[in-house]
Amino acid sequence: MEVRVRYAPSPTGLQHIGGIRTALFNYLFARSMGGTFILRLEDTDRTRYSEEYVKNLFDSLAWFGMDWDEGPDVGGPYGPYVQSERFALYAEYAEKLVSMGKAYRCYCTSERLEKLREEQTAAKSGSGYDRHCRNLTEAERADLERKGVKSVIRLKVPLEGVTKFHDHILGDIEWKNEDVNPDPVLLKSDGFPTYHLANVVDDHFMKITHVMRAQEWIPSTPLHVVMYEAFGWDHPEYCHLPMVMGEDGHKLSKRHGSTSVNEFRSNGYLPDAIINYVALLGCSFEEGRDIYSLADLAKLFKMDKLNKAPAVFDYKKLEWYDGQYIRTKSEAELAALCLPYLQASGLVGEKPTEADTKRLAAAIPLVRERLSFVKDAPDMLRFLFADVEVANPADLIPKKLDAAKAKALLEASLGFIPAIETESDEAMEAKARAMAEGLGVKLGDLMMPVRVAVTGTKVSPPLFGSIRALGTDAALKRVNRAIALL
Ligand code: GLU
Ligand code: ZN
Repeated sequence: MEVRVRYAPSPTGLQHIGGIRTALFNYLFARSMGGTFILRLEDTDRTRYSEEYVKNLFDSLAWFGMDWDEGPDVGGPYGPYVQSERFALYAEYAEKLVSMGKAYRCYCTSERLEKLREEQTAAKSGSGYDRHCRNLTEAERADLERKGVKSVIRLKVPLEGVTKFHDHILGDIEWKNEDVNPDPVLLKSDGFPTYHLANVVDDHFMKITHVMRAQEWIPSTPLHVVMYEAFGWDHPEYCHLPMVMGEDGHKLSKRHGSTSVNEFRSNGYLPDAIINYVALLGCSFEEGRDIYSLADLAKLFKMDKLNKAPAVFDYKKLEWYDGQYIRTKSEAELAALCLPYLQASGLVGEKPTEADTKRLAAAIPLVRERLSFVKDAPDMLRFLFADVEVANPADLIPKKLDAAKAKALLEASLGFIPAIETESDEAMEAKARAMAEGLGVKLGDLMMPVRVAVTGTKVSPPLFGSIRALGTDAALKRVNRAIALL
């Protein structure tokens, strides 16, 4: 059987981690099975629709490298892939259910439904439609039609018995029909379909074999199964994905940190790192292995390895992944990734000069092993692109030593700094160590004031490399300036 799966978001918001994970598992399943990955726009909610969200959907998937085989822009044999372009089909199939006696017209006014809700709330009785119009006589119906009363089409959910379906992750699921949403609207009076109708009709006609979606859609599934049965169609296989939680056990949301793809992007996260991490949220691949490219994941994915238990989104772990992927970048790639952040912080102009480019090339080896996020590059590299000052002269003084000693140490360093240009780090370290011994201090105490003088901060990339990247002349100037402060 050819596998056909779809990612079917509603363009009513920006793409976020939860959606991306749903898209990813569908994508991986399709690719691992040599199947088809379909993108479908469920844009029936026109009030919350925005063109911007559609664009964001395409951009986000493309950024992650998830390509789709059929979809709104690329077309395909079962299109259109935009629900708002398929309204005639939904109306036709809603009517079909009515004529088959599986759905009915409901003429209730919004006032009546509102009153019903109030009564239910007051009586603390069940909620939902009371099926009033399910039992109208032919004569009553004809009368309402003649008067031109507007109607919606509702699904006839069986009053008794159970609806069963199998979920690939959760196993056999059984719902008492009395607990299923009583007769939900399929087609509104303005001809707009609801999610349930459009979703089922599309999955059928697009020949979807597996529905992989978030667990929050489980309550809709019995309704969908009732509809498939009413139409006499086979329903797709179901696979409801485990929830994604924040560390506090609540559903992942803004409160926990960035969740939208845009935020991750503008904060400089690498797409490969996000994909790698998100794939492991609720799924396992190989024992004892952490790093997977999208292509690896597509090869290794197995639906059987999806977990039942909710997954916890750990920002620290994602940070670790981001760092890992930074280390896989070539120096040129990493320079290109860091550049926009250096520009945004004003350290490099919009048009980098030759000197900027050279300095950046020298800087990358210093940060490659230490960056978790490219957006942190400006903080780590400020001293290379700006003539940093020592904000607080006390920072120049090693613990347990005084200003006079710090001054002496800085003066001594003037003697070995020029050699950094030509000598190896090992040779320099030996030199500095010998000098520190001669001065009766630890190596760290000698290096610390130099680090502060040159980089303006107590934490910096490795000092000799930093001075080499800056140039020894500039370094000497800064050390002299620091000496004057003491
Ligand atoms: N449009 C629904 C959503 O926004 C699709 C749910 C489904 O996959 O059935 O997620
Ligand atoms: Zn009614």
